[in-house]
Amino acid sequence: MKNKIKEILSNRKMTADLIAKDNLKKAFLLHGFKKLYVREKEIIIQRARIEVEEMSVLAIKTESQDGIDKKFAELGEKSEPTKSKANESKRNDGKNTKKNIEKNFADLISYSKSAPISTPKSSPKDSPDLSLRNPYENEIKKLTIELQEVYKKQDEILKTANLTRKDLIPQYTCPICEDTGFKNGIDCDCVNKIISELNLERLNLKRLKTFKDCDYSIFKNVLIPKFYKKMQIWTNSQRKKTSVVLQGDVGTGKTFLLECIANEFIKQNKYVIFATAFEMNNDFLKYHTIFSEAKMAYLNKYHECEILIIDDLGSEPILRNVTKEYLYLIINQRMIENKTTLISTNLGLVDIRDRYGERTFSRLVNKQQNILFKFENEDLRKRRL
Ligand SMILES: [Zn+2]
Repeated sequence: MKNKIKEILSNRKMTADLIAKDNLKKAFLLHGFKKLYVREKEIIIQRARIEVEEMSVLAIKTESQDGIDKKFAELGEKSEPTKSKANESKRNDGKNTKKNIEKNFADLISYSKSAPISTPKSSPKDSPDLSLRNPYENEIKKLTIELQEVYKKQDEILKTANLTRKDLIPQYTCPICEDTGFKNGIDCDCVNKIISELNLERLNLKRLKTFKDCDYSIFKNVLIPKFYKKMQIWTNSQRKKTSVVLQGDVGTGKTFLLECIANEFIKQNKYVIFATAFEMNNDFLKYHTIFSEAKMAYLNKYHECEILIIDDLGSEPILRNVTKEYLYLIINQRMIENKTTLISTNLGLVDIRDRYGERTFSRLVNKQQNILFKFENEDLRKRRL
Protein backbone atom coordinates (compact mmCIF):
# COMPACT_ATOMS: atom_id res chain seq x y z
CA MET A 1 0.00 0.00 0.00
CA LYS A 2 2.71 2.45 1.00
CA ASN A 3 4.60 1.59 -2.17
CA LYS A 4 1.47 2.09 -4.25
CA ILE A 5 0.95 5.52 -2.71
CA LYS A 6 4.61 6.35 -3.27
CA GLU A 7 4.32 5.27 -6.88
CA ILE A 8 1.28 7.49 -7.43
CA LEU A 9 3.05 10.38 -5.77
CA SER A 10 6.07 9.92 -8.01
CA ASN A 11 3.87 9.62 -11.09
CA ARG A 12 2.45 12.95 -10.13
CA LYS A 13 6.00 14.28 -10.12
CA MET A 14 5.89 15.11 -6.46
CA THR A 15 9.17 15.27 -4.73
CA ALA A 16 9.52 13.92 -1.25
CA ASP A 17 9.69 17.51 -0.08
CA LEU A 18 6.18 18.04 -1.22
CA ILE A 19 4.63 15.14 0.58
CA ALA A 20 1.98 17.01 2.45
CA LYS A 21 -1.23 15.60 3.76
CA ASP A 22 -3.27 17.03 0.89
CA ASN A 23 -1.14 15.28 -1.69
CA LEU A 24 -1.31 12.02 0.17
CA LYS A 25 -5.09 12.27 0.30
CA LYS A 26 -5.19 12.79 -3.46
CA ALA A 27 -3.00 9.75 -3.93
CA PHE A 28 -5.32 7.74 -1.72
CA LEU A 29 -8.30 8.85 -3.78
CA LEU A 30 -6.63 7.94 -7.06
CA HIS A 31 -5.66 4.57 -5.66
CA GLY A 32 -9.20 3.95 -4.41
CA PHE A 33 -10.93 5.08 -7.59
CA LYS A 34 -8.72 2.93 -9.77
CA LYS A 35 -9.75 -0.06 -7.74
CA LEU A 36 -13.42 0.82 -7.82
CA TYR A 37 -13.36 1.38 -11.57
CA VAL A 38 -11.94 -2.05 -12.26
CA ARG A 39 -14.27 -3.59 -9.73
CA GLU A 40 -17.29 -2.13 -11.51
CA LYS A 41 -16.23 -3.67 -14.80
CA GLU A 42 -15.79 -6.99 -13.10
CA ILE A 43 -19.32 -6.87 -11.70
CA ILE A 44 -20.74 -6.16 -15.17
CA ILE A 45 -18.88 -9.13 -16.59
CA GLN A 46 -20.01 -11.38 -13.76
CA ARG A 47 -23.60 -10.43 -14.39
CA ALA A 48 -23.20 -11.10 -18.10
CA ARG A 49 -21.73 -14.50 -17.31
CA ILE A 50 -24.65 -15.39 -15.07
CA GLU A 51 -27.10 -14.37 -17.81
CA VAL A 52 -25.39 -16.71 -20.28
CA GLU A 53 -25.40 -19.56 -17.81
CA GLU A 54 -29.06 -19.05 -17.07
CA MET A 55 -29.87 -19.09 -20.75
CA SER A 56 -27.97 -22.29 -21.39
CA VAL A 57 -29.53 -24.02 -18.37
CA LEU A 58 -32.89 -22.92 -19.63
CA ALA A 59 -32.16 -24.23 -23.07
CA ILE A 60 -30.90 -27.59 -21.90
CA LYS A 61 -33.81 -28.12 -19.56
CA THR A 62 -36.28 -27.37 -22.30
CA GLU A 63 -37.07 -30.45 -24.32
CA SER A 64 -39.13 -29.05 -27.12
CA GLN A 65 -40.11 -25.80 -28.75
CA ASP A 66 -43.38 -25.96 -26.82
CA GLY A 67 -41.44 -26.43 -23.64
CA ILE A 68 -39.37 -23.35 -24.37
CA ASP A 69 -42.48 -21.36 -25.08
CA LYS A 70 -44.03 -22.63 -21.88
CA LYS A 71 -40.97 -21.63 -19.93
CA PHE A 72 -40.90 -18.19 -21.47
CA ALA A 73 -44.62 -17.83 -20.88
CA GLU A 74 -44.04 -18.56 -17.20
CA LEU A 75 -41.37 -15.91 -17.11
CA GLY A 76 -43.72 -13.54 -18.86
CA GLU A 77 -46.45 -14.17 -16.31
CA LYS A 78 -44.25 -12.76 -13.61
CA SER A 79 -44.51 -9.35 -15.16
CA GLU A 80 -48.03 -9.91 -16.54
CA PRO A 81 -50.08 -11.88 -14.07
CA THR A 82 -53.12 -12.26 -16.40
CA LYS A 83 -53.44 -15.97 -16.95
CA SER A 84 -56.38 -16.09 -19.35
CA LYS A 85 -54.50 -16.01 -22.58
CA ALA A 86 -54.76 -17.92 -25.77
CA ASN A 87 -52.05 -20.38 -26.70
CA GLU A 88 -50.99 -18.09 -29.55
CA SER A 89 -50.46 -15.08 -27.28
CA LYS A 90 -48.59 -17.29 -24.84
CA ARG A 91 -46.22 -18.08 -27.64
CA ASN A 92 -45.76 -14.39 -28.36
CA ASP A 93 -45.16 -13.65 -24.68
CA GLY A 94 -42.49 -16.26 -24.73
CA LYS A 95 -40.84 -14.69 -27.70
CA ASN A 96 -40.97 -11.23 -26.13
CA THR A 97 -39.45 -12.45 -22.91
CA LYS A 98 -36.67 -14.07 -24.81
CA LYS A 99 -36.10 -10.85 -26.70
CA ASN A 100 -35.98 -8.99 -23.41
CA ILE A 101 -33.34 -11.31 -22.07
CA GLU A 102 -31.32 -10.86 -25.22
CA LYS A 103 -31.72 -7.12 -25.02
CA ASN A 104 -30.70 -7.04 -21.35
CA PHE A 105 -27.70 -9.12 -22.10
CA ALA A 106 -26.68 -6.80 -24.92
CA ASP A 107 -27.08 -3.86 -22.54
CA LEU A 108 -24.95 -5.57 -19.97
CA ILE A 109 -22.03 -6.01 -22.24
CA SER A 110 -22.44 -2.76 -24.15
CA TYR A 111 -20.36 -0.82 -21.58
CA SER A 112 -17.56 -1.23 -24.02
CA LYS A 113 -18.71 0.39 -27.25
CA SER A 114 -15.74 -0.95 -29.09
CA ALA A 115 -16.58 -4.54 -28.25
CA PRO A 116 -18.55 -6.07 -31.09
CA ILE A 117 -22.05 -6.77 -29.90
CA SER A 118 -24.34 -8.75 -32.11
CA THR A 119 -27.81 -9.52 -30.94
CA PRO A 120 -28.76 -12.95 -32.21
CA LYS A 121 -30.78 -12.39 -35.34
CA SER A 122 -32.21 -15.81 -36.00
CA SER A 123 -35.08 -16.78 -33.78
CA PRO A 124 -35.71 -20.48 -33.27
CA LYS A 125 -38.84 -20.17 -35.38
CA ASP A 126 -36.77 -19.28 -38.44
CA SER A 127 -34.27 -21.95 -37.67
CA PRO A 128 -34.47 -25.05 -39.84
CA ASP A 129 -33.68 -27.28 -36.85
CA LEU A 130 -36.84 -26.71 -34.84
CA SER A 131 -36.83 -30.21 -33.53
CA LEU A 132 -33.38 -30.01 -31.94
CA ARG A 133 -33.17 -30.55 -28.18
CA ASN A 134 -31.32 -27.32 -27.72
CA PRO A 135 -32.47 -24.76 -30.24
CA TYR A 136 -30.40 -22.00 -28.57
CA GLU A 137 -27.14 -23.85 -28.93
CA ASN A 138 -25.85 -21.57 -31.65
CA GLU A 139 -26.84 -18.45 -29.80
CA ILE A 140 -25.18 -19.67 -26.64
CA LYS A 141 -22.04 -20.34 -28.64
CA LYS A 142 -22.24 -16.85 -30.04
CA LEU A 143 -22.79 -15.35 -26.61
CA THR A 144 -19.90 -17.34 -25.21
CA ILE A 145 -17.66 -15.92 -27.93
CA GLU A 146 -18.92 -12.46 -27.10
CA LEU A 147 -18.18 -13.10 -23.47
CA GLN A 148 -14.64 -14.10 -24.41
CA GLU A 149 -14.33 -10.77 -26.17
CA VAL A 150 -15.64 -9.02 -23.09
CA TYR A 151 -12.94 -10.79 -21.07
CA LYS A 152 -10.37 -9.77 -23.65
CA LYS A 153 -11.56 -6.20 -23.36
CA GLN A 154 -11.32 -6.48 -19.61
CA ASP A 155 -7.74 -7.66 -19.89
CA GLU A 156 -6.96 -4.65 -22.05
CA ILE A 157 -8.50 -2.30 -19.50
CA LEU A 158 -6.46 -3.98 -16.79
CA LYS A 159 -3.32 -3.72 -18.86
CA THR A 160 -3.70 0.02 -19.42
CA ALA A 161 -4.21 0.48 -15.69
CA ASN A 162 -1.11 -1.61 -14.99
CA LEU A 163 -3.15 -4.14 -13.10
CA THR A 164 -3.68 -7.86 -13.21
CA ARG A 165 -6.76 -9.98 -12.47
CA LYS A 166 -5.45 -10.38 -8.95
CA ASP A 167 -6.01 -6.68 -8.43
CA LEU A 168 -9.72 -7.19 -9.00
CA ILE A 169 -10.04 -8.80 -5.63
CA PRO A 170 -9.77 -6.02 -3.10
CA GLN A 171 -7.15 -6.81 -0.50
CA TYR A 172 -7.22 -3.81 1.72
CA THR A 173 -4.11 -2.86 3.61
CA CYS A 174 -6.35 -0.99 5.97
CA PRO A 175 -9.66 -2.75 6.51
CA ILE A 176 -10.89 0.18 8.60
CA CYS A 177 -11.07 2.68 5.74
CA GLU A 178 -10.78 0.12 2.91
CA ASP A 179 -7.79 2.09 1.65
CA THR A 180 -9.78 5.23 0.98
CA GLY A 181 -7.85 7.14 3.63
CA PHE A 182 -10.86 8.29 5.57
CA LYS A 183 -13.73 6.88 7.53
CA ASN A 184 -16.87 8.74 8.51
CA GLY A 185 -15.49 11.92 7.02
CA ILE A 186 -12.30 12.03 9.09
CA ASP A 187 -8.77 10.95 8.25
CA CYS A 188 -8.07 7.34 8.98
CA ASP A 189 -5.19 6.50 11.32
CA CYS A 190 -3.41 4.72 8.48
CA VAL A 191 -2.97 8.06 6.66
CA ASN A 192 -1.27 9.54 9.71
CA LYS A 193 0.95 6.52 10.00
CA ILE A 194 2.03 6.52 6.36
CA ILE A 195 2.71 10.23 6.24
CA SER A 196 4.75 10.08 9.45
CA GLU A 197 6.76 7.18 8.07
CA LEU A 198 7.35 8.91 4.74
CA ASN A 199 8.53 12.00 6.54
CA LEU A 200 10.87 9.98 8.70
CA GLU A 201 12.30 8.15 5.71
CA ARG A 202 13.09 11.50 4.21
CA LEU A 203 15.14 12.30 7.29
CA ASN A 204 16.82 8.89 7.29
CA LEU A 205 15.27 8.28 10.67
CA LYS A 206 13.64 5.03 9.64
CA ARG A 207 14.84 3.30 12.73
CA LEU A 208 14.04 5.71 15.47
CA LYS A 209 15.31 5.25 18.96
CA THR A 210 12.73 3.91 21.34
CA PHE A 211 12.41 4.17 25.10
CA LYS A 212 13.37 0.50 25.19
CA ASP A 213 16.74 1.36 23.61
CA CYS A 214 17.66 3.66 26.47
CA ASP A 215 20.69 2.84 28.52
CA TYR A 216 20.23 5.11 31.51
CA SER A 217 23.56 4.14 33.01
CA ILE A 218 25.29 6.56 30.63
CA PHE A 219 23.73 9.56 32.36
CA LYS A 220 25.73 11.00 35.20
CA ASN A 221 22.89 13.32 36.07
CA VAL A 222 20.18 11.21 37.71
CA LEU A 223 17.53 13.78 36.80
CA ILE A 224 17.79 12.84 33.12
CA PRO A 225 16.59 9.20 33.40
CA LYS A 226 13.77 10.46 35.60
CA PHE A 227 12.85 13.02 32.97
CA TYR A 228 12.94 10.37 30.21
CA LYS A 229 10.47 8.26 32.19
CA LYS A 230 8.28 11.28 32.87
CA MET A 231 8.19 12.04 29.15
CA GLN A 232 7.30 8.47 28.29
CA ILE A 233 4.26 8.74 30.56
CA TRP A 234 3.48 12.17 29.10
CA THR A 235 3.27 10.80 25.55
CA ASN A 236 0.66 8.30 26.65
CA SER A 237 -1.45 10.68 28.70
CA GLN A 238 -4.00 13.41 28.17
CA ARG A 239 -1.43 16.15 27.80
CA LYS A 240 -2.26 19.24 29.87
CA LYS A 241 1.04 20.82 28.98
CA THR A 242 1.08 20.62 25.24
CA SER A 243 4.60 21.63 24.36
CA VAL A 244 8.14 20.83 25.38
CA VAL A 245 11.38 22.79 25.22
CA LEU A 246 14.57 20.84 25.89
CA GLN A 247 17.63 22.92 26.55
CA GLY A 248 21.18 21.74 26.89
CA ASP A 249 24.57 21.44 25.27
CA VAL A 250 25.35 19.27 22.27
CA GLY A 251 25.45 15.54 23.01
CA THR A 252 23.51 15.52 26.25
CA GLY A 253 20.71 13.26 25.03
CA LYS A 254 18.07 15.71 23.79
CA THR A 255 17.74 14.35 20.26
CA PHE A 256 17.72 10.80 21.58
CA LEU A 257 14.75 11.68 23.76
CA LEU A 258 12.97 13.43 20.88
CA GLU A 259 13.35 10.33 18.74
CA CYS A 260 11.93 8.13 21.50
CA ILE A 261 8.97 10.49 21.83
CA ALA A 262 8.43 10.60 18.05
CA ASN A 263 8.40 6.82 18.05
CA GLU A 264 5.79 6.67 20.79
CA PHE A 265 3.50 9.05 18.92
CA ILE A 266 3.93 7.19 15.62
CA LYS A 267 2.95 4.00 17.42
CA GLN A 268 -0.24 5.82 18.39
CA ASN A 269 -0.79 6.59 14.67
CA LYS A 270 -0.32 10.29 15.19
CA TYR A 271 0.70 12.54 12.31
CA VAL A 272 4.27 13.42 13.33
CA ILE A 273 6.71 15.76 11.62
CA PHE A 274 10.30 15.53 12.78
CA ALA A 275 12.45 18.28 11.31
CA THR A 276 15.73 19.91 12.10
CA ALA A 277 15.50 23.66 12.54
CA PHE A 278 17.83 23.97 9.56
CA GLU A 279 15.51 22.00 7.34
CA MET A 280 12.44 23.85 8.56
CA ASN A 281 14.17 27.14 7.86
CA ASN A 282 14.79 25.99 4.28
CA ASP A 283 11.11 25.20 3.91
CA PHE A 284 10.25 28.66 5.23
CA LEU A 285 12.55 30.16 2.63
CA LYS A 286 11.00 28.10 -0.16
CA TYR A 287 7.53 29.12 0.95
CA HIS A 288 8.63 32.74 1.06
CA THR A 289 10.25 32.81 -2.38
CA ILE A 290 8.21 30.43 -4.53
CA PHE A 291 5.25 31.95 -6.31
CA SER A 292 3.03 29.02 -7.12
CA GLU A 293 0.29 27.05 -5.48
CA ALA A 294 2.73 24.27 -4.72
CA LYS A 295 4.43 26.44 -2.12
CA MET A 296 1.69 25.77 0.43
CA ALA A 297 3.09 22.30 0.96
CA TYR A 298 6.26 23.78 2.45
CA LEU A 299 4.39 25.45 5.27
CA ASN A 300 1.18 23.46 5.67
CA LYS A 301 2.75 20.36 7.12
CA TYR A 302 4.12 22.34 10.07
CA HIS A 303 0.64 23.64 10.77
CA GLU A 304 -1.27 20.46 10.08
CA CYS A 305 0.74 17.79 11.88
CA GLU A 306 -0.48 16.73 15.28
CA ILE A 307 3.04 16.52 16.67
CA LEU A 308 5.80 18.84 15.45
CA ILE A 309 9.33 18.10 16.56
CA ILE A 310 11.99 20.72 15.85
CA ASP A 311 15.48 19.49 16.54
CA ASP A 312 18.40 21.79 17.25
CA LEU A 313 16.75 25.18 17.18
CA GLY A 314 19.46 27.80 16.82
CA SER A 315 21.61 25.84 14.37
CA GLU A 316 19.89 27.47 11.41
CA PRO A 317 20.95 30.79 9.88
CA ILE A 318 18.69 33.76 10.54
CA LEU A 319 17.18 34.82 7.23
CA ARG A 320 15.67 38.29 7.12
CA ASN A 321 11.86 38.33 7.02
CA VAL A 322 11.83 34.55 7.11
CA THR A 323 13.29 32.70 10.10
CA LYS A 324 11.83 34.67 13.00
CA GLU A 325 8.55 35.49 11.28
CA TYR A 326 7.56 32.00 10.19
CA LEU A 327 8.79 30.37 13.37
CA TYR A 328 6.51 32.66 15.38
CA LEU A 329 3.64 32.03 12.97
CA ILE A 330 3.94 28.27 13.37
CA ILE A 331 4.52 28.19 17.12
CA ASN A 332 1.80 30.71 17.92
CA GLN A 333 -0.80 29.04 15.73
CA ARG A 334 -0.03 25.62 17.15
CA MET A 335 -0.36 26.87 20.71
CA ILE A 336 -3.72 28.48 19.92
CA GLU A 337 -4.90 25.16 18.52
CA ASN A 338 -3.46 23.22 21.48
CA LYS A 339 -1.20 21.19 19.22
CA THR A 340 1.94 19.63 20.57
CA THR A 341 5.32 21.06 19.59
CA LEU A 342 8.64 19.76 20.88
CA ILE A 343 11.83 21.73 20.51
CA SER A 344 15.42 21.00 21.37
CA THR A 345 17.98 23.75 21.51
CA ASN A 346 21.41 24.46 22.88
CA LEU A 347 20.52 28.10 23.30
CA GLY A 348 20.04 29.59 26.74
CA LEU A 349 16.86 31.47 27.59
CA VAL A 350 18.48 34.86 27.00
CA ASP A 351 19.83 33.63 23.67
CA ILE A 352 16.34 32.54 22.61
CA ARG A 353 14.94 35.98 23.37
CA ASP A 354 17.78 37.77 21.61
CA ARG A 355 17.62 35.57 18.57
CA TYR A 356 13.89 35.10 17.98
CA GLY A 357 12.41 38.11 19.75
CA GLU A 358 10.11 38.66 22.71
CA ARG A 359 6.96 37.19 21.17
CA THR A 360 8.44 33.80 20.33
CA PHE A 361 10.34 33.76 23.60
CA SER A 362 7.17 34.29 25.65
CA ARG A 363 5.42 31.44 23.80
CA LEU A 364 8.31 29.02 24.32
CA VAL A 365 9.04 29.87 27.93
CA ASN A 366 5.41 29.83 29.03
CA LYS A 367 5.59 27.43 31.98
CA GLN A 368 1.83 27.17 32.21
CA GLN A 369 1.64 25.56 28.79
CA ASN A 370 5.08 24.08 28.31
CA ILE A 371 7.40 21.61 29.90
CA LEU A 372 10.89 23.08 30.15
CA PHE A 373 13.86 20.91 30.93
CA LYS A 374 17.55 21.60 30.99
CA PHE A 375 19.91 18.75 30.13
CA GLU A 376 23.02 19.09 32.23
CA ASN A 377 25.34 16.25 31.50
CA GLU A 378 28.71 15.68 29.97
CA ASP A 379 28.82 15.13 26.20
CA LEU A 380 27.71 11.53 25.76
CA ARG A 381 29.25 11.38 22.30
CA LYS A 382 32.64 12.41 23.63
CA ARG A 383 32.40 9.85 26.40
CA ARG A 384 31.77 7.02 23.97
CA LEU A 385 34.96 7.95 22.10
ZN1 LIG B 1 -7.21 3.38 6.92
